[in-house]
Amino acid sequence: MFVYADNAATSKVSPAVLDAMLPFLKDTYGNPSSLHTMGQKAAEHLLAARESMARHLNCEPKELYFTSGGSESDNQAIISAAKVGARRNKKHIITTAIEHHAVLHTLAQLEREGYTVTYLPVSSTGLVTAEQVKEAITEETCLVTIMYANNEIGTILPVKEIGAVCKEKGVYFHTDAVQAAGHIHIDVKDQNIDMLSLSAHKFHGPKGVGALYVRSGIPITVLINGGGQEKGKRSGTENMPGIMGMAKAFDDACNNIDANAAKVGALRDKLIAGLSKIPHCALNSDPKLRLPGNVNFCFEGIEGESLLLLLDSKGICASSGSACASGSLDPSHVLLAIGRPHEIAHGSLRLSLCEYNTEEEMDYILQEVPKVVEYLRNMSPMWKDLISGKKNFTL
Ligand SMILES: *Cc1c(COP(=O)(O)O)cnc(C)c1O
Repeated sequence: MFVYADNAATSKVSPAVLDAMLPFLKDTYGNPSSLHTMGQKAAEHLLAARESMARHLNCEPKELYFTSGGSESDNQAIISAAKVGARRNKKHIITTAIEHHAVLHTLAQLEREGYTVTYLPVSSTGLVTAEQVKEAITEETCLVTIMYANNEIGTILPVKEIGAVCKEKGVYFHTDAVQAAGHIHIDVKDQNIDMLSLSAHKFHGPKGVGALYVRSGIPITVLINGGGQEKGKRSGTENMPGIMGMAKAFDDACNNIDANAAKVGALRDKLIAGLSKIPHCALNSDPKLRLPGNVNFCFEGIEGESLLLLLDSKGICASSGSACASGSLDPSHVLLAIGRPHEIAHGSLRLSLCEYNTEEEMDYILQEVPKVVEYLRNMSPMWKDLISGKKNFTL
């Protein structure tokens, strides 16, 4: 059996999305800036895509910028707010310890350039409160950037409340909503969001395309100079097939958001219930206040990397930490931030589901993971120390 359970790393392009993209590679390949009929036809489709996505986010089409994905949107939002801040002598930014590296590494660069960053600590389930944000805001704060939902442990953060605090204090609020978009309801006005990043490939769109919402009135910087596309902020001929695919994927995801969440949430709960029976394991984050498709466990006495390789040999695609962090031997910064000790954080497994997964696949995962965990524990010196009583169990 083959099971793809790594949808938080990337998801497959749905058949309907592929169909929406193909005409823009084959027939309607015009450049939206061209004055001839084919170019103008492309321009019409581009506008329709922007309008459709804006409607689902409850913003104006002109407040949406098409980008190359989540990382670019995060970089652009943060750097823009930092530049505005510097002009007003405000060089303090607030974030959390569990952000994606697209945010953390951008902030690290700003720190090297003289900005101060407050990394709010999170609770054992990965939460920060609006109260924490309020207390951290100073006269110098130019930006609060806090993710909508965490990519590793699936925690959904209280963005609406955090946004309300930022609004009250007159500080820009950006949220990395790459894991949330298309999976949970987003309304930028109702949720007090000034800037929001999303990425198509996390909701069955193609890779290499995303969007950044920027509330009108916020001056963003020019990211790419050239022909003046995207209101002069990001030049370059538009990625028409990608943008068409993203708009279709977002429309499908938003139109089916409740049905998908119910289906995927049931699969998630089945996995959580089954995997919880493995001795000396712990679910990371809250059982309910999490993304519909996210399952993340720590298993004591084993290495996540070996677990992944063995699961891969059984046809199960999963992940340990985030895709970017794996391959390195450092434990996940998210698991450390929620208080897992190093050796426990090393033994983590993330399974991320989507609406294309099935009950049968969950049964297969529940059959294989306990066997693989037991096999690895039997070979592990760490585990021998634990069962012989030389070391104490943490979980
Ligand atoms: C995947 C992801 C990103 C990066 O998006 P790309 O489109 O791959 O650049 C950023 N933030 C979060 C939370 C993500 O899950």
